[in-house]
Amino acid sequence: MAFYVTTPIYYVNAEPHLGHAYTTIAADVFARHMRQRGDDVFFLTGTDEHGEPVELAAEREGISPQELADRNAPRFEAMAASVNASNDFFIRTSDERHTDRVAEIMQRVHDNGHVYEGAYEGWYCPRCADFKTERELGPGNTCPIHEIPLELEREQNWFFKLSAFEDDLKRLYAERPDFVVPDFRRNEAVAFIERGLQDVSLSRSKLNWGMPLPWDRSQRMYVWFDALLNYVTALAFAREGQDLTERFWPAAFHVLAKDILKFHAVIWPALLMAAGLQPPRGMVIHGYLLMGEKKMSKSLGNVLDPFEVIERFGADALRFYCLREVSFGQDGSVSAPGFEARYESELANDFGNLASRTLAMLDRYRDGVVPEAGPDPALAGGEGGIEGLAAEVSELIDRAEPSQALEAIWARVRRLNRYVEETRPFDLAKDEAQAGRLDQVLASLAEGVRVVTLALVPFIPDAAGRLLDALGEPERTLAEFGSRGGGARVERIPPLFPKIED
Ligand SMILES: [Zn+2]
Repeated sequence: MAFYVTTPIYYVNAEPHLGHAYTTIAADVFARHMRQRGDDVFFLTGTDEHGEPVELAAEREGISPQELADRNAPRFEAMAASVNASNDFFIRTSDERHTDRVAEIMQRVHDNGHVYEGAYEGWYCPRCADFKTERELGPGNTCPIHEIPLELEREQNWFFKLSAFEDDLKRLYAERPDFVVPDFRRNEAVAFIERGLQDVSLSRSKLNWGMPLPWDRSQRMYVWFDALLNYVTALAFAREGQDLTERFWPAAFHVLAKDILKFHAVIWPALLMAAGLQPPRGMVIHGYLLMGEKKMSKSLGNVLDPFEVIERFGADALRFYCLREVSFGQDGSVSAPGFEARYESELANDFGNLASRTLAMLDRYRDGVVPEAGPDPALAGGEGGIEGLAAEVSELIDRAEPSQALEAIWARVRRLNRYVEETRPFDLAKDEAQAGRLDQVLASLAEGVRVVTLALVPFIPDAAGRLLDALGEPERTLAEFGSRGGGARVERIPPLFPKIED
């Protein structure tokens, strides 16, 4: 199965921040999980380099838009690397290989009769690079997102006949109930379509930094058209000498934040249809990480800076915290003290200690070799049982619920810790007559930790990889409890998540 996951391409007019990191982390979790399941995965991220926001930012700095893009794009590429994203390609929309293909596709939209020339009057937000309908305006004709007063702009330009796709879009949503998840976001998109679609401006005459329309070079393409098309164009040139379009389109799964829902859930599928292309397989819309309490934490001060977290605690800790603290899809608060609390109680204590104890006991009592013994049925079933974890996690990821998947995994981490308390292997080890039982307990623990850690690979790839190596597990695919026998050689390793120094 092909699985093509994308982040939005990020605007190069600003610095990468937690919001960009969050979307990239989530997309990476989907990519890594689907690779574990043996899917043919392609993961794309990149930068959006045209349009008025970039032009304005460059002007303020007294440099050209291309210079600004060339300076800032590598920062976004470095951000992806710093959160340990496993993206297969990084696209930049000022790349000629992209713009050439955009011109081809837009020419097709034109030739198919889906554009016309007209006069436009509307409320334009230069920071959104978007016109607002009356319904979308904030109080006093402001942008509700940027809270700045908007100007009523009037000009002659080209329009995309979005209204002509109303029925096609309604049909798409009726036929594919999971085209947009979560449900409340899907309902938002459907409500937007059902209120009646207005045609959208496709070009701007006053803009300098943007692609010329292939059929009217006096007009520059409205940046969203060029930006959205990156999801298709990248496949044609991401691999030297190969065109991946057939292989990965329409297997696309877009990950994005709620502020760009309308572009992705309404305009994008319509544009694809207008070009004679298939809509993507689907998309997940996530909420915002809100900076919560500004209380001092012992290591990070009072601001949660994602890059400082990565530098001090590693990418795994940030990845885990973002997806664990806030249920993916909802808005939620994050904070430096909140990060420390999760890090200490869950990563260092629940998981880190479980890993250290398991490896230490195997080393001390069985010379570092997992005993040959069937897995303890007491650990397999019931609440928090290890059995069925791989299937449950897969189902939750298929529903685009990574936070729930993480919760399912954590229920097993806690179950394994309780198992140690209940079975007391350190007492069993003092009694020769209990050697068989100790074999079973240690084998079950090793197996439980292995299965849980495999499920954690997409979330905390670095720590999970180190622990699996220490458990003598070369594979990274998901496994079911009891699927591996004994005999593996394990070794003790330093704490995966060292405690925070006071
Ligand atoms: Zn705005």
